Amino acid sequence: MDKVELINKLINEGYIRSERVKKALLKVPREEFVPEHLKDYAYIDSPLEIGYGQTISAPHMVALMSELLDIKPGMKVLEIGTGSGYHAAVTAELVGKDGLVVSVERIPELAKKAEERLKKLGYDDVIVVVGDGSLGYKPLAPYDRIYVTAAAPKIPKSLIEQLKDGGKLLVPVGRYMQKLMLVEKKGDEIIVKDCGYVSFVPLIGEEGFR
Ligand code: SAH
Repeated sequence: MDKVELINKLINEGYIRSERVKKALLKVPREEFVPEHLKDYAYIDSPLEIGYGQTISAPHMVALMSELLDIKPGMKVLEIGTGSGYHAAVTAELVGKDGLVVSVERIPELAKKAEERLKKLGYDDVIVVVGDGSLGYKPLAPYDRIYVTAAAPKIPKSLIEQLKDGGKLLVPVGRYMQKLMLVEKKGDEIIVKDCGYVSFVPLIGEEGFR
């Protein structure tokens, strides 16, 4: 399968619903974010090993999360779990030149590789931070959107705190049976919506699994 075939499949399956998400996925070269020996599989709709026991998310998951988050140009977005940097690049396309993507990764080697890759591909507006993202990243808070690409035991409080009023947070919750939860902050109100079953590596940290 090539990139265009994959995108068409994701449209037919209902994962891609907007022109903006379609454009972003068409733009980012996923083959640059997977290990050399897996390049032939870059446009199969599947997660792939990236080392250190971690995976690059499947394209349909990146599409689904991008649509649910409704990311607009100019937004400041926090990603927890940089991994390969692929999802961060898609988000960078969605926020555009006036936006900012901050991505936190706990494994320094993955963070370094992702940062180099993103630079090389021209994604200068992505800031990669090494640390425990279960606590968010306070220095640049608050954020318009926050999403977590690893599963948490419960919705991390720090992440809700670091959302702007009107902001949205997307986080997989659970150990074996994980559900993708969409959290909306509206004044003092927190609205939580269940978006269905998903499968992610565990979020490891203070507000993650120990
Ligand atoms: N978004 C990534 C997928 C990453 S997989 C991509 O597009 O490739 C999830 C990542 O979350 C892993 O790299 C893992 O090391 C990281 N992770 C797990 N717990 C974390 C934490 N508390 N803070 C930051 N990153 C974490």
